[in-house]
Amino acid sequence: MDGFAVIAADVAHAGPGSPVTLDVAADIPAGTAPQIRLQSGQAARIMTGAPVPAGADAVVRVEDTDVSPRQAGLQAPDQVKIFFPAPQGENVRPAGQDVQRGELVMEAGQRIRPQDAGFLSMLGVSQAWVHRRPRVAVFSSGDELLPAGQPLAPGKIYDANSYTLVGLIEQTGAQAIHLGISADHPVAVRSTLEAALAQDADLIVSSAGVSVGALDFVRSVVEENGTLDFWRVNMRPGKPVAFGSYRGKPFIGLPGNPVSAFVGFEVFVRPALQKMLGMNPQPRQSFFAHLEQAVNSDGRESYLRSIVEQRDGELFARLTGHQGSGNLRSLVQANSLLFIPSGVKYLPSGSRVQVLLLDPF
Ligand code: AMP
Ligand code: MG
Repeated sequence: MDGFAVIAADVAHAGPGSPVTLDVAADIPAGTAPQIRLQSGQAARIMTGAPVPAGADAVVRVEDTDVSPRQAGLQAPDQVKIFFPAPQGENVRPAGQDVQRGELVMEAGQRIRPQDAGFLSMLGVSQAWVHRRPRVAVFSSGDELLPAGQPLAPGKIYDANSYTLVGLIEQTGAQAIHLGISADHPVAVRSTLEAALAQDADLIVSSAGVSVGALDFVRSVVEENGTLDFWRVNMRPGKPVAFGSYRGKPFIGLPGNPVSAFVGFEVFVRPALQKMLGMNPQPRQSFFAHLEQAVNSDGRESYLRSIVEQRDGELFARLTGHQGSGNLRSLVQANSLLFIPSGVKYLPSGSRVQVLLLDPF
């Protein structure tokens, strides 16, 4: 506090009509270390951020003295009149109020948020052990795909997935390496996977080409040059997921349909990346909401696109239109994924359902 460091007992009886006059024995701007020990009858002019001198146990605000508070550059006076008492400790921050020696201030597995970085620096920590951001190579596969920006041609569509996946990867804190589009040909798939290795990827994520089509080569190329640990999972959307390794690097093959690729990322890639980032895997924030419509499911674990709203302190969920796995717009319109556990085939309107939030609201 800008003011005067005092001995509280000296000013205990100060009042507007009966000020206590003290000798100003020192001037202590922020950034200096006071040398004096305050004696009874003395004060030291002090600025916010300066350490109080020995002997002082309170600071009287400059506004509570006869020294004009509004003028910068003013010399410290020889004497100061104190108009109000300041109890012991007033306007003084004790050392160790915020954190004490020996306290655990940050745990492994925690992301360093901006305030954490500031706090580490405040403690004088200039370097911390962290996990390297994993490098994640991403590519789309399919002869029908063109990058947006090129003229569309008959039989072609624009690639959505590699952009969605790059964004999702970077959202987790990992580094994405965008490898673009691979043609539906084993040689092209292999050279894209080789490019991932050449770029020092820690994980390779692809979309499409892992289903049962005659030209779905991604899975077979991985299998021939590594291992395939599993293929296809009993969920909707996102059934044709493949997991394995290509020449020693972990590989996750997501489905081609844009919503399936997104959901597959959420269910399989996000937790993997969190582990690779050294974090404890944290699922998306989820809530229970009242379902505003009846929903049919096929008994597989399902993730439906939904909008959750809060009304009168209660949460309500409804679907965002057509749930076809190619319909990316209904995902864009959603703020959540409605989770239907496996074995459930029908949920009547009003059911309590779990929703995973995609955007904070
Ligand atoms: P696939 O897994 O190769 O059988 O692809 C399934 C469906 O997703 C097909 O209709 C593809 O055209 C479509 N698809 C595959 N990759 C992408 C992509 N990157 N962006 C948009 N649609 C895609
Ligand atoms: Mg395909």
